[in-house]
Amino acid sequence: MKDFVTEPSRQLDEALAVFLEALSRLEESFKDLPAVVDSDYYARLTAALESRMPRFFTAYDAYVHAALQMEARPVTCSKSCSACCRHFVSSVEPFEVAALHLHIRNSEEYPDLLFASHRNSVLYEKIANEEVPDDEAADRALYRYFLKGKACPFLQKDGACGVYAFRPMSCRMFFAESPARFCAGKAVASPWNRNFQIELPQVAEEALARCSSYLDALDFPEELFPGVLAANALFGPYDNGNDDSRNDGEGGPLR
Ligand code: SF4
Ligand code: SF4
Repeated sequence: MKDFVTEPSRQLDEALAVFLEALSRLEESFKDLPAVVDSDYYARLTAALESRMPRFFTAYDAYVHAALQMEARPVTCSKSCSACCRHFVSSVEPFEVAALHLHIRNSEEYPDLLFASHRNSVLYEKIANEEVPDDEAADRALYRYFLKGKACPFLQKDGACGVYAFRPMSCRMFFAESPARFCAGKAVASPWNRNFQIELPQVAEEALARCSSYLDALDFPEELFPGVLAANALFGPYDNGNDDSRNDGEGGPLR
């Protein structure tokens, strides 16, 4: 007979082990990156991201799912429910930014996505600069930014995420157990809002930090929209190598 008390706990342990293994493979593939960010660096980074990130995200989602099962929380989130996609997405790992940029840099929407990322980044910076610097300044700035209601550049008109397979862990870990109307506007700060995040255990946080440290040379900010702009500055849009007019040395070393 199954032990229904320990089963979710065992599943969580197994999911964590799979996630740690995916992280360790990612880390292994970053260890040989050159010290300087050049075209060789980007070629190797691309190969690592393409081969390792699908497994990484699958393992992460499985961990989050197991944690939700374990905590038995009544999640109210549904597809195309997107009030939460007005937050300024932060705590993003550099390899997540690089993978997302790699995914969008060849798309027709790329210039528009950059423009919107720039617009949202400038808005947040302006708000943050207005705050008196203290321990709560960042939280106040994030809240005031959220109240502006600026949609994430990757949010589609139908409310779906346009980069769903590449959305960062910060988006994947965020849930609500209250009706979606309490995720919008000032209701987010009301007692009726019950947003929550699935946190990783310390061992996974440490492994993540180790993994990201191999990408220090990229010097990406840990907020998603400025991160995408930084990736563009380094790597630019897709270049198939046939258009000489784009290889003018402007806009990043790899264009
Ligand atoms: S966090 Fe809130 S807005 Fe976002 S999907 Fe869940 S219920 Fe909808
Ligand atoms: S990346 Fe996707 S899930 Fe995350 S805030 Fe943007 S639209 Fe929403």
